[in-house]
Amino acid sequence: MDAVVPLRPAAATAVTAAAAGEGLNGTEDALLSTDDVFLRRRNNTLAALGKLKRSVVCGKVLYLSPDRCVIFAPAGITAFLLCCNTVIAWPILSFFDFFLLYSLVIGGFVFAALVSCTDPGVYPRLGPGDIDPVGDDKRYIFCRVCHLRRPPRTSHCYTCGVCVLEHDHHCGIIGGCVGLRSLRWFTLFVVCIGLGAIVACSWMIRFLSAMISQMPVHNRSATTIPLNMTGPMEGGAPVDMPFMMNKPGFRQARARNTSNTDEPNLVGIGACMVFFLDLIVLLLVGGMAVMYIFLMLTSTTRRESKKGMLYGKKNGVCNNLTHSMFPPPSLLEGSATDDMVNLV
Ligand SMILES: [Zn+2]
Ligand SMILES: [Zn+2]
Repeated sequence: MDAVVPLRPAAATAVTAAAAGEGLNGTEDALLSTDDVFLRRRNNTLAALGKLKRSVVCGKVLYLSPDRCVIFAPAGITAFLLCCNTVIAWPILSFFDFFLLYSLVIGGFVFAALVSCTDPGVYPRLGPGDIDPVGDDKRYIFCRVCHLRRPPRTSHCYTCGVCVLEHDHHCGIIGGCVGLRSLRWFTLFVVCIGLGAIVACSWMIRFLSAMISQMPVHNRSATTIPLNMTGPMEGGAPVDMPFMMNKPGFRQARARNTSNTDEPNLVGIGACMVFFLDLIVLLLVGGMAVMYIFLMLTSTTRRESKKGMLYGKKNGVCNNLTHSMFPPPSLLEGSATDDMVNLV
């Protein structure tokens, strides 16, 4: 888990000076970076949380987003779509198919819940009697809501009511803030759902292909095709169909949908509709997954990318990935007193 990052001497000096109200020395070299001073702040009081709600579940501290309940809407839609895929493609599915798609979807749910229930990288509001560590240094933007000067790359989230380090956006679809500490969970969430959409599309393509290959030709009655056939004949030699073709479910579905060629093929229409929905999810979420992998590897927030900036381009992919996957500890845990002890 997260460990307290040891202080560097320069940082300790800067923090001590700022805490003592002496301000900075005014040179550009003294411009404090996020690593140097801002991550030393701690405030575990309720005043730091804004609109977030702290809750302890099984000994684990959760920071609940105010709109966390909206997660049930996309979760319900995803579960419904998953059921539709399963029911339609049931005859052609193997255990591995189930395991793969259900693992990805469950993983997506877990990561989405982590976005909604963990600290996104809150830069704590000042507690009663606290002093802004950067004083009145005008090189830093003053947040009129939090009443303090905030670190570089930090933005105020009006939904959560706090400033968030490396704030990317507040996701109103899953109800969670995406920032320095939650970007990893959000990226994993869209990657899982994007991969799940690919698998679901492959289910429908396989099912429709199998159904089309089993359809009678135009001038042939469906009932002339023996339901217990093992496969088409090629050059007189029997060719085994895939094992799933002989599953009872597939044979029954085929019989049900080919017994009367005048009736519309309802299963086929349903499979096409579900495939269309899977494709929409793939395009939307899969596209986001590609974008967020890129943003993670360049250590860039979406806000910065809109301005044409690639913040961490020079840091290297490995450093950027480490920065995102192993962010600094939450500033909402521990106390200012602990920090001052660490500073000495
Ligand atoms: Zn703020
Ligand atoms: Zn937020």
